[in-house]
Amino acid sequence: MPDYLALAQSLAPRLIAWRRDFHQHPELGFQEFRTAAIVAEHLQSLGLEVTTGVGKTGVVGIIEGNGPGPVALLRFDMDALPVTEATGLPWASQEPGRMHACGHDGHTAIGMGVATLLAQTRDQWPGTVKLLFQPAEEGLGGAKATIRDGVLENPRPDAAFALHLWNQFPLGKLVVQPGPLMAASDRFDIAITGRGGHGAAPEDAIDAVLVAANMVTMLHHIVSRNVSPHDAAVLTIGSLHSGDAFNVIAERAFMEGTLRTFDPAVRDLLIQRMEEVLGGVTRAHGASYAFEIQENEYTPPVINDERMAAIAREAALTFLPEEQIIQIEPIMVSEDMSEIMNRVPGCYVLLGAEPEGGARGPHHNPRFDIHEDALPLAAAIMSQIAVIYLRQGT
Ligand SMILES: [Zn+2]
Ligand SMILES: [Zn+2]
Repeated sequence: MPDYLALAQSLAPRLIAWRRDFHQHPELGFQEFRTAAIVAEHLQSLGLEVTTGVGKTGVVGIIEGNGPGPVALLRFDMDALPVTEATGLPWASQEPGRMHACGHDGHTAIGMGVATLLAQTRDQWPGTVKLLFQPAEEGLGGAKATIRDGVLENPRPDAAFALHLWNQFPLGKLVVQPGPLMAASDRFDIAITGRGGHGAAPEDAIDAVLVAANMVTMLHHIVSRNVSPHDAAVLTIGSLHSGDAFNVIAERAFMEGTLRTFDPAVRDLLIQRMEEVLGGVTRAHGASYAFEIQENEYTPPVINDERMAAIAREAALTFLPEEQIIQIEPIMVSEDMSEIMNRVPGCYVLLGAEPEGGARGPHHNPRFDIHEDALPLAAAIMSQIAVIYLRQGT
């Protein structure tokens, strides 16, 4: 087995330079044109077969090993968030309103590093590695777009792996676990119609603001009173808009929110109870409502395959002491890697990347930062996972 950690350490200055360059030039989902061009050029320079424009701005690179074998997909996401950076770091974002506040700049650099390491050692492993640099992970459906563009065909992957830098854990901690890791996510929209009127004549109106206020309160009873305390579920109403003037009773109100679940039965229960609550509240007020679950924005839960998690653990043990490899309670954030892992057995791991002196902001925060020493470690772990899997065979 090549010493992937030593090889990755020697690449560290390049990994850091790539990451800082992406960090200074963040691009939002489906707009990763500059990032994708840099990735594609690097993959081409390694002699890989490269496809661009996968899922609009994604890049796929294929590395053939030393003979026939399985196909492993390694996925790295590239998109930034609509956040204005407040770290004050020398390599802070140069684009107001855009920031790599989730660490996907690091993921892109790690992927370029993995491409380098696996291309260098291609005579030492069988099969095929498919590197996917995915656009638009942050709630925009990038994974699905790449699947529609055929990323899971020609060749079809037999296994899929991904890693997220996680600044809430110390450097070098690695979360690897079989089973659930991240929740399913749903987006819903609610529109309420009452009857507008004079602010001084409530008896002639149906107040959409009051209906909405009642709904918010009642909807929050569902998780606390209808879902078993043994099941995880979140219902969040993230926006509520109604009314235009201080002395007018509003006719319409709009709400948007998200559901997070692991068990499809719990998701069904939430949706059914929401319908009942919305129907009951609007009936009590004489209003009407429209409720929509945006099925095209559904993200399934991330559930790690048992065998693939064991492979990831074995790979991690090459570089990390056993006590650094941990399991956690599943987290309620979601990740569209699940779209791939629903179709191909896979494992998603989280690598601790807390900056020196502690994290100043969590993921998606304007003060978010990572520890750059995590970059070579991540590149080594992902390379090692791929090679262990490919040598084991399907
Ligand atoms: Zn994120
Ligand atoms: Zn992320």
